[in-house]
Amino acid sequence: MIDYIIAIVVVAVLLLGVGGTMLLRPRGMHGIRRSRARELDLTGAIPKAEEGTKAGTTTLERPEAPTAPQPTIPPPAQLPAEPEAPPRPPLEKPPPSAGRMVRLRARLARSQTGFGGALLALLSRDRLDDDTWDEIEEVLITADVGVSPARQITSDLRTQVKVEGARTPDEVRSMLRAELLSEVETEASRSLRTQRHEGRPAVLLMVGVNGTGKTTTCGKLARALIGDGQTVVLGAADTFRAAAADQLQTWGERVGAQTVRSDKEQADPASVAFDAVSVGIEQEADVVLIDTAGRLHTKNDLMDELGKVKRVIEKRTSVDEVLLVLDATTGQNGLRQARVFAEVVDVTGIVLTKLDGTAKGGIVIAVQRELGVPVKLVGLGEGPDDLAPFDPVTFVDAIIG
Ligand code: GDP
Repeated sequence: MIDYIIAIVVVAVLLLGVGGTMLLRPRGMHGIRRSRARELDLTGAIPKAEEGTKAGTTTLERPEAPTAPQPTIPPPAQLPAEPEAPPRPPLEKPPPSAGRMVRLRARLARSQTGFGGALLALLSRDRLDDDTWDEIEEVLITADVGVSPARQITSDLRTQVKVEGARTPDEVRSMLRAELLSEVETEASRSLRTQRHEGRPAVLLMVGVNGTGKTTTCGKLARALIGDGQTVVLGAADTFRAAAADQLQTWGERVGAQTVRSDKEQADPASVAFDAVSVGIEQEADVVLIDTAGRLHTKNDLMDELGKVKRVIEKRTSVDEVLLVLDATTGQNGLRQARVFAEVVDVTGIVLTKLDGTAKGGIVIAVQRELGVPVKLVGLGEGPDDLAPFDPVTFVDAIIG
């Protein structure tokens, strides 16, 4: 009996020993290989000690594809942090509008040197013959001054040269300066009506063909007014261009101006304008700035749309300014647009955008002549504060350097 029990115990011990080896060893080897694979991917080199281990255990291992490239196992990924609502950036404090054109003068001068420099060079020639006067007229026309103003300026300069005779470079410069100034200056005031009146905000309507920089100008103007200490409500009545309302709202949010907009696509621009004016009145804002769409299918469509916007606003208050935004780089095309808009609405001022991007500053003279309305603001870059009240002296000085 005892023999029998001893035999059972011996068999049991032998069975446990073999089973334990078989069960435990492969599991342990797999754990090492995985972690080594990770190390390889991270360091690009096999550690010496590990290589030794590998060599020493080859026979004990389960056969595995020895040289097959190991799949890349990425390092343990960090769980992405819970997205947090981005903190609202602090409101920006835009600079006041005064003195901006002087600040932007260098930019204007850089774009206009061709025009002013060519005129000065021609006028400084020893002999001013007919060909030279033709060249002077040509330079003016090329700078978009317009044919008839170019003839006028050339003829005035010619008369002066005849009367005064010999010229020093300084005299040439001041003669040209005076002539250009007399063409750029207008009797009409360039100031913007942005003061509250009869207990209501001033209302400014921004009109112009899409792409001229209307929405950007609304945003820049809102900043400038806020920089001057005024409160502004924006009306996103350009409901034709899907992104326009978002664009305007972004401008407003940066400086704390509320934007009134419609949730519906292609909403009625007149009703958005009406709501914006109502909000402006309720909040006792100083200025309501309304961006409009500038589709030019036909003059009648435009007239209907802008006419309706204006009529609907006038149910609550008067429109103080209608600012026509023109892209200075579009030359004659821009002038044609200006003509159409002037027939449709009473334009009270012109905003010439992208003057930084053209050497044809003469458009200031042409467009004022064409419409009989002063340029009130100029865009001199894409930066948020690159809009300035137009100042003729700074402008002419920038042209002639
Ligand atoms: P909208 O369709 O008339 O509202 O035109 P946007 O306001 O969207 O402007 C069209 C493009 O003109 C944008 O890329 C503006 O950044 C650019 N823009 C506007 N004003 C100026 C300016 O004075 N100078 C320059 N260089 N770009 C401008």
